[in-house]
Amino acid sequence: MIAVATGAGISAESGIPTFRDSGGLWEGRRPEDVATPGAFLRDPLEVWRFYLERRKTAISVKPNKGHQAIAEWQNEFLDVPVITQNIDGLHQRAGSKNVLEIHGSLWKKKCCECDFTADDTVTEMEELPRCACGGLLRPDIVWFGESLPELILENAFTIVRKIKCLIVVGTSNLIYPAAAIPMTALAAGVTVIEVNPARTTLSDRATLFIEGRAGDVLPDLIERLRMHL
Ligand code: NAD
Repeated sequence: MIAVATGAGISAESGIPTFRDSGGLWEGRRPEDVATPGAFLRDPLEVWRFYLERRKTAISVKPNKGHQAIAEWQNEFLDVPVITQNIDGLHQRAGSKNVLEIHGSLWKKKCCECDFTADDTVTEMEELPRCACGGLLRPDIVWFGESLPELILENAFTIVRKIKCLIVVGTSNLIYPAAAIPMTALAAGVTVIEVNPARTTLSDRATLFIEGRAGDVLPDLIERLRMHL
């Protein structure tokens, strides 16, 4: 069994800037001004509007050859999970089904007071959305200083301990606990293949580092693995 772990780099060729490549700014904003619980408490409508802009950016682009190669492979081998740090939904739009979004999703909202969560695709907002319980609804995204969704994360760690090979694509491997996922796989004796145009903290430890862009490398890599399997 094989799994894929992706970060912002897989969506770069679709036109969504990575966190590092944009100098740490998202849509020209400092993450701490819009991606923290404190920022939402201070000005929830401003934070919502920031994420609505990010939705518009995500809608305006298409999944690329990297997303497509993974989705095609999943169609053939149904048990290939994709563990992603991305919130843009491009894996799903490429046709991927088994996607574990460990940092949440741009396309979901959740209640600040109760367990309510729902899909959400609006891109304009005049008033703050409220839950039936009266609580404020917020983007279902893991903000700085927040814990990752426990069950999804546990599931990701369980998966990478029992697979044969993990393909890690487009992450700088700097943000924990996401960065612990390939390390856990390596510790369990799993073959870890890293695909990235630049070396990362993982590159020296990975079983194989392939220097290149996801859209250039993945279609061929996945074809080779398919023949090998
Ligand atoms: P990062 O910005 O820290 O690192 C991006 C990595 O992608 C770098 O190592 C870079 O060399 C590599 N890369 C650039 N172009 C690539 C390509 N064409 N193919 C393959 N790799 C390429 O991203 P991160 O490690 O994912 O961490 C940043 C955090 O910000 C994560 O939580 C991420 O979810 C979030 N984020 C998400 C999006 C998105 O949903 N698309 C965009 C920006 C940031």
